Amino acid sequence: MARAVLALCMLAALAACASRPPPPTAAAPPPPPGYLACQQGLSSAGVLFEAVLPMQTREGCGFSEGVKVTAVPSPLNQPAVLSCPTALALVRFDLDVVQPAAMQHFGMRVTKIHHVGGYSCRGIAGTRKWSQHAFGNAIDVIAFDLSDGTRILVSRDWRARGARANFLHDVARGACQVFRVVLTPAYDRAHHDHFHLDTGPERLCGI
Ligand SMILES: [Zn+2]
Repeated sequence: MARAVLALCMLAALAACASRPPPPTAAAPPPPPGYLACQQGLSSAGVLFEAVLPMQTREGCGFSEGVKVTAVPSPLNQPAVLSCPTALALVRFDLDVVQPAAMQHFGMRVTKIHHVGGYSCRGIAGTRKWSQHAFGNAIDVIAFDLSDGTRILVSRDWRARGARANFLHDVARGACQVFRVVLTPAYDRAHHDHFHLDTGPERLCGI
């Protein structure tokens, strides 16, 4: 009898143990060094952004220091989710490359930068390698609007003659000073309509 009671008690203890909530998970890891400084850099440049929680997909895509930017500080046509250092590179690109080139070639400012994607969990077409888009380290830029409403399209104007083409070629050349990889229509057919700009580990100025 005593043994049966003991067994019941043990079962009850086990049940209690099983129904106990799991131990609290460890606190979220601290942000990587540099993340806060990077966000401060964005703020001081007048960038409109929100911090994005760290993300990791089962396939291995994701980032630990993401931001969703809407102006860099020129407005983007749509928000872009990027790693913070890539957003900061986009700010330098806007301020140090795009605006001076627009002033030089047109005597006016660029008022909007059009892109078709930042973070995207995908590989490089035709390879087994991850695209830097999979880590938020890349953005595909397709067009620039000038303050008079003129739209300069990579697809149409890269191979044209005159100020629009000269502007785009200067912008691509300048982008190589800011980003680690720049791919343009001169690089391959896959980039006939956009500039791929990334801050990944490779180095390539495909202009
Ligand atoms: Zn791209």
